[in-house]
Amino acid sequence: MIGPLLPAARVRAGGEESEQRRPAGLDSRVAALCLAALLLIGALMGSLNLLVDGVLRDGAGRWAYASTMLLLFALSGHLACRGRVGQAHTFGLVLLGDVIYLVVVLCIQDPLRYATPLMLLFPALAGAWFLPLRPLCVHMVATTGICLAALWPSYDSAVGLVVQAGVSACTLNAAAMGVFVLRRRVQRLLVATETISHQDALTGLYNRRYLVEQAPRLWGQARRDGTQLSAMVLDLDHFKRLNDEFGHAVGDAVLRAVARSLSGAVRPADLLARTGGEELVVVGSVAVVAEGRRLAERLRLAVAGARSEDGHAVTASVGIAVARPVEGEDPVAALWRLIDRADAAMYVAKRSGRDRVALADRPRSRATHAEPATWQRGHPAGSVARPETSRAVGSADL
Ligand code: GH3
Ligand code: MG
Ligand code: MG
Repeated sequence: MIGPLLPAARVRAGGEESEQRRPAGLDSRVAALCLAALLLIGALMGSLNLLVDGVLRDGAGRWAYASTMLLLFALSGHLACRGRVGQAHTFGLVLLGDVIYLVVVLCIQDPLRYATPLMLLFPALAGAWFLPLRPLCVHMVATTGICLAALWPSYDSAVGLVVQAGVSACTLNAAAMGVFVLRRRVQRLLVATETISHQDALTGLYNRRYLVEQAPRLWGQARRDGTQLSAMVLDLDHFKRLNDEFGHAVGDAVLRAVARSLSGAVRPADLLARTGGEELVVVGSVAVVAEGRRLAERLRLAVAGARSEDGHAVTASVGIAVARPVEGEDPVAALWRLIDRADAAMYVAKRSGRDRVALADRPRSRATHAEPATWQRGHPAGSVARPETSRAVGSADL
């Protein structure tokens, strides 16, 4: 419905999306634990050969084999303790898996019986799941070479060697490619599901769930930067009247036009979400209250300037509240306190005539029922002392 808006709105409203939604640390941890498990399984299975007579070559071969198994145990323990592994290390470990297979072949009496190329499935599958396409292709070529080298001593005929190595390498690489394709599909599906779960279907803006999920990040960022957070609640004016007069399809088109216009007006780091029927919220950091006021006015003008395809327009009443995050407060509860204050200010803007901005006053320790300051079209309504909204516990507002 609003195809072109979606990417723009999402990028504008969530510049750090990929970092927040798909933490690199998580993948790195999963890769480290999986590789550690594979190394451990390989070491345990391989160590059994040390107990069976006639499998290993005597002398140096047995010692080299035992040392290799020890290396596998050590690597597995190291990875499990470290709990993370980078892409270059993963690639190195996958290649090391191939080399270890080659060492095993050299240490074993009858490689065809006791060291089948099927053992290369370990590095092949690990590479397919954790490596990007290019390193995976390099690994597939390496797998083919390792198959040839490992089977070389067991075949007199070159044709027999090439056929056997080719069959083994093709089987391994086909399995790896299959797993790689499957992984890509799963990843795309996850991204699509995640996108849908954070998105409002009508406007393509973020939804309430995403707004709540982002509270800890917004609070943490503001604390690190030493800035304040502003919440703006925008409620479209007389929207029911528009629906009643022109129908809900027209109302929907106006909502989409407003979303498009607001997406272009918010700052890149602001979070713009549709939280209810014709209610939108913008959360972002501000250095001073005046900056929030200017932004609120800009958003009000953006709504007023939005036009649906057939020329319908609407105005919005905007309430704005500003708070400085306080150490130890719950970010989600603090976000709702801030939004509640902005919501109360929005109702003041409604009562003052709509199509205007109202600022929630600085809260005091005791609750009052007084009203926030209002001004129309960017001009303060007056310089009289403003009564206060109720105290937002834990938020030190300016
Ligand atoms: P006010 O200026 O006081 O906010 O008046 P209003 O008419 O906007 O407020 P009210 O809460 O009475 O009505 C909100 C209307 O918004 C009612 C509902 O039909 C409409 N609405 C809510 N969600 C949607 C939607 O997704 N599409 C359309 N077309 N209308 C919606
Ligand atoms: Mg409303
Ligand atoms: Mg309304």
